[in-house]
This record gives sequence, C-alpha cells and structure tokens, in this order.
Amino acid sequence: MAVGSDRRTTDQGPLLSVVLPAYNEAGNVGPMAARLAEILSADRSDAFARFEIVFVDDCSKDGTLAELRRLAAADPRVRYVSFTRNFGHQSALRAGLRHARGDAVVLMDCDFEHPPELIPELLARWREGAKIVAAQRETAAGDVSAFKRLTSRLYYRLLDSIGDVRIEPGSADFLLLDRVVVDTINGFDDHDLFLRGLVRWLGYPLVKVPYRQGVRSEGESSYTLRRMIDLAVTGIIAHSVKPLRIAIHLALVFALIGVLLLVYSIVSFLAIGHTVAGWTSTMSAIAILGAGQFLVLGIIGEYIGRVLRETRNWPPFLVAETETSAAPPAAAGR
Ligand code: UDP
Repeated sequence: MAVGSDRRTTDQGPLLSVVLPAYNEAGNVGPMAARLAEILSADRSDAFARFEIVFVDDCSKDGTLAELRRLAAADPRVRYVSFTRNFGHQSALRAGLRHARGDAVVLMDCDFEHPPELIPELLARWREGAKIVAAQRETAAGDVSAFKRLTSRLYYRLLDSIGDVRIEPGSADFLLLDRVVVDTINGFDDHDLFLRGLVRWLGYPLVKVPYRQGVRSEGESSYTLRRMIDLAVTGIIAHSVKPLRIAIHLALVFALIGVLLLVYSIVSFLAIGHTVAGWTSTMSAIAILGAGQFLVLGIIGEYIGRVLRETRNWPPFLVAETETSAAPPAAAGR
C-alpha cells in the first residue's frame, strides 16, 4: 500500500498529526499515546477538535509493533507504519510525514525527551500563522552530556560556515510543520534526509519555542557515536560542496611546502656545500601527501556514494505494515 496523505479531510475543522519514530520503544509507545491523547484533548480550543497519533516502527526487535497493533485496535486515532527493516530515524520521519494526514504535523521522539506538554505552545504559534515552529532545546548543565553539547555546538558552527543553512545549537527534530511544508518535503525524493537542515533551507520563516529536554523514560538511546557521525556527514554533504574544495586548498599547501623544501636544499647546497640528508624529510613529505590524498579521496568518495544512491532511485524505506493492513507483502515507500 502506498503511504500518503490522500485521506485528509478538512470539513470538520483542522486535523493535527503527531508523528513519532519508534525503535525499540515498547515501553514508551503506550504511555506516550495516552499522554498525547490527554494533552490534546485538554487543548480545548475549537481549532483542534481532531488529532491523530502516527507511530513509525523502524523494525523494532522488542515488541513495539505488537504494542502499536494493540493501541491502533483500541483507538482509531492511533495509526502506524512499520518498516521491513531498520531504515533509521530520518527515514522514519519521512515515512511519518507521508502517512500523516494533518493540516499541521508535529514531529517528535517517543521517549519523552521531547516533552509532549510543549505541543499546545507549538500549536499556538501555528494558529498565529507560522508555517514552521521549531522547538529549541535550552540546556542546563546536566540535561545533556557535555560531550554532546560541545560536539553539537561545534558541528552547527561548521555547518553554518561551510553550508547553505544556519542551524542554531539545540535544534532537534522536534518541529511543527504546516501542511504546505509537509507537502513540499514529501515532494523531495533524495535518499539522505537531514530534516532539520531541509526545513531551514526551504526558506519559510521559522518560529522558535524553547524547551527543557526531558529524561528518556524507557530503554536506551539508539544514537550511537557512529550514527551521530553518519547524520553529521549527511548534513554536511546535503548542504555543502565545500569539502570537495579541500583538495584544491591542500594541493596548494603541499605545493608550497614542496617548493620551500626545494629552495632550502638548493640554498644550503650552494651556501654550505652539502645537500639535505633527505630520508626523513622525504618520508614525512610522502606521508603528509599520502594522508592528504586519502582525505580528499574519502571526501570525493562520500559525495559519489550519495550520487550513486540517488541515481539508483531506490525507495528511502519499505513499509511492511500499517494500521489498515495486517501483514501484506512489502510495498515501496514512495
Ligand atoms: N529511532 C528510530 N530509528 C532508529 C533509531 C531511533 O526510529 O534507528 C527513534 C527513537 O525511537 C526515538 C527517536 O528516533 O523516538 C530518537 O532516537 P534516540 O532517542 O535513540 O536518539 P537521541 O534522542 O538519544 O539522540
């Protein structure tokens, strides 16, 4: 079955979708659905009589899917998409955006690190006309590890200086998007999504709402260092071609070093009559040059790999099951 937003209705007032990627969150999806229902029902403004909760099971191994089947059977406002294998958080966000039918869509983690209590405030900004409302994490010492704070700050600064988007430290994939923005993003087919960069690149004014990060209530973070590095590389490659230019800068630097070394050898030969005993300097020059070449080849390889993935035109995720189907054959997610 295709994942899409074709069943959206607007005759009974706007619909809100809350999209939550879930990987091994069996202990969190139930309490999260209950908390969301409580908060959204308490939001008594006429503007939001209707909401849906869309979970994206990223092929969890811990019974999350069984929990989702149970929740959806008990409450028609709970919907889900389940992947054939683990496609990662960003692909889960993309699937959620395609499955959501809302006029406004909130994206958030389902481990309570993104406080659901903030949603009414995001909605208030949306009602005032904002197309994108970004929840901005305000960190106090102890909320997030010093390592994570420092690396995220350095990374966003790097992205700001070499890329085409400016992402403020503390940004996360905790966002409210208007239907116009969701439809625009759904029209993008690139494989490597870096959502927090893309929503800023679109150019719609972005309204920020600060929040204090909650504590993960169950399970463990599945963002290992390797996954964080993967996401960081995806962000840079999606928003900058400058790393490719490192080759040119490095070539100039090494050419300069080579020329200086040559001048030094000629001068010392003419002045004091002996040549540079060259083994060490030759070897170190080869090593430096070799490292530089490997670095540049690696960077080019990353870009070429992405180009290959895009041209292969494979779907960014495959759906095994949704709330309307028990377990049919896998269908493409685009
Ligand atoms: N997640 C996912 N697929 C993955 C890893 C994580 O859908 O492969 C979900 C996870 O269930 C959570 C959100 O993405 O709702 C953020 O993940 P996590 O809490 O592990 O990251 P952190 O917030 O610690 O950086």
